[in-house]
Amino acid sequence: MANNNLAHLDVLLVGAGIMSSTLAVMLKELDPSLSLEIVEQMEDGALESSNPWNNAGTGHAGLCELNYTPQAADGSIDIKKAININAMFEESKQFWAHLVETGTFGDPDSFIHHVPHLSFVQGKDSIAFLKKRAELLKEHHAFEKIEFTTDKSLMAQWIPLMMAERKDDEEIAATCISNGTDVNFGALTRQLLAYLDQQDTSTLSYNSKVVDLQRCAQGWQVAIKDLKSGTRRTVTAKFVFLGAGGAALPLLQKSGIPEGKGYGGFPVSGQWLRCDNPAVVEQHQAKVYSLAAVGSPPMSVPHLDTRVIDGKKSLLFGPYAGFTTKFLKKGSFLDLPMSVRLGNIWPMLAVGRDNMDLTRYLISEVRQSMEQRLDSLRRFYPQLDPADWKLEIAGQRVQIIKKDEKKGGVLQFGTELVSSADGSLAALLGASPGASVTVSIMLDLLKRCFPEQSNSAQWTEKLAAIFPAPLKELETNAELYRSTQERSDKLLNLR
Ligand SMILES: Cc1cc2nc3c(=O)[nH]c(=O)nc-3n(C[C@H](O)[C@H](O)[C@H](O)COP(=O)(O)OP(=O)(O)OC[C@H]3O[C@@H](n4cnc5c(N)ncnc54)[C@H](O)[C@@H]3O)c2cc1C
Repeated sequence: MANNNLAHLDVLLVGAGIMSSTLAVMLKELDPSLSLEIVEQMEDGALESSNPWNNAGTGHAGLCELNYTPQAADGSIDIKKAININAMFEESKQFWAHLVETGTFGDPDSFIHHVPHLSFVQGKDSIAFLKKRAELLKEHHAFEKIEFTTDKSLMAQWIPLMMAERKDDEEIAATCISNGTDVNFGALTRQLLAYLDQQDTSTLSYNSKVVDLQRCAQGWQVAIKDLKSGTRRTVTAKFVFLGAGGAALPLLQKSGIPEGKGYGGFPVSGQWLRCDNPAVVEQHQAKVYSLAAVGSPPMSVPHLDTRVIDGKKSLLFGPYAGFTTKFLKKGSFLDLPMSVRLGNIWPMLAVGRDNMDLTRYLISEVRQSMEQRLDSLRRFYPQLDPADWKLEIAGQRVQIIKKDEKKGGVLQFGTELVSSADGSLAALLGASPGASVTVSIMLDLLKRCFPEQSNSAQWTEKLAAIFPAPLKELETNAELYRSTQERSDKLLNLR
């Protein structure tokens, strides 16, 4: 059983979200003898961004997200990012399939469901873009089943809720790939944590906050405050992972590693419209992504999603972005001001100066009335009844601000793994594509922070057994891709 008295650990992980829990289980699979502790300030795991109601639960695989296939000024479309994210999601599926196969996980229905992924656009230019994009994607094995249509009767079969009583003269088009997914990242996290809780040398400490960390002879000395009793304890660990979601940045700053200098955070809050009325929910079995308004950031792409949470179906529409100074949903308004340092003030000011459009966009989003929010939804679902929809608060995203030689500072919308040169500490910053690509992020972390073990025969053999198809192969080897996907889908009940 879990042992709460370990003073020296191999690995200490901050935060019990999808990132830390995935890394912890991966390490245990590779070396069961490792002693590790997950320290979480909340009373349970997956209560921040990994909670199913705080994120959209899209298994991001590049099947429907139009911002993964940007169009250049000359009209060309770059599909590299969609291919890469698709391969990363298949890598995640291999890991989950392995855990189902070995009995670590229970029923995969508790966390993953098959939901078709569609892209939906309005207007001539957007239709031309969608058609060209589909033609390009179709040439790649990951997207060979993509269907493009302007035929409204076919769209009425794919997305009946969205097509009912639409104007006849409206110019619309859609693409559909049937093998998309909805993932309950909260349920997934909890399955991972439950497995860790059964291990002799794993400890899960809730209501416990990491308040300080410093280098020491053994690696890192970490101060942990028990939030119930107010007492403090100290543990040492050879390796520390800062999987604290939005709060990873302040901890990275506390660590003082030179690789963390110059980073800042730009928090963006979110809201959804949610519908639980079964009569409405039953008419929509899809995740439908559209184009973000011109000039708005990628996280503002509107989508109407089927969600399957704890066996119940709902619809979610949004997100509507907003500005906040908190780094976590349950964080403090002082998070942003307290993160300002001499090393990041210039990049932060430069981002403020160069992103006035984003600031204006966020202010306009915050000031929207419920009627304006419903109007955005009407683009997707013209016949909506306002009584069916309620506003919910989504999770926080802390976008990365980093130094840039030319501009002084830039705002980044992806995720970034920052690690110390000696590999003894790593932090995950940023939010997108997020939970879907956790497994690929952690495989990268293993190479950077555990280089010797990664090259050992023991780890190489185990990794090859868990991941029969590595990332690059998934991108380029059509036959291997198809057989791997078929195997994962079978184990995950996705067909
Ligand atoms: C609105 C929104 C929509 C999203 N949609 C999707 C999607 O559709 N698909 C997708 O794949 N991803 C999506 N994401 C991203 C995804 O939710 C995140 O990438 C992922 O959940 C991050 O996991 P995490 O473990 O890093 O962080 P979290 O789940 O936030 O966990 C971090 C934990 O660290 C704890 N913590 C913080 N500081 C301390 C401390 N000092 N001591 C102890 N504990 C601490 C927190 O309490 C928290 O529990 C979305 C995110 C948002 C906000």
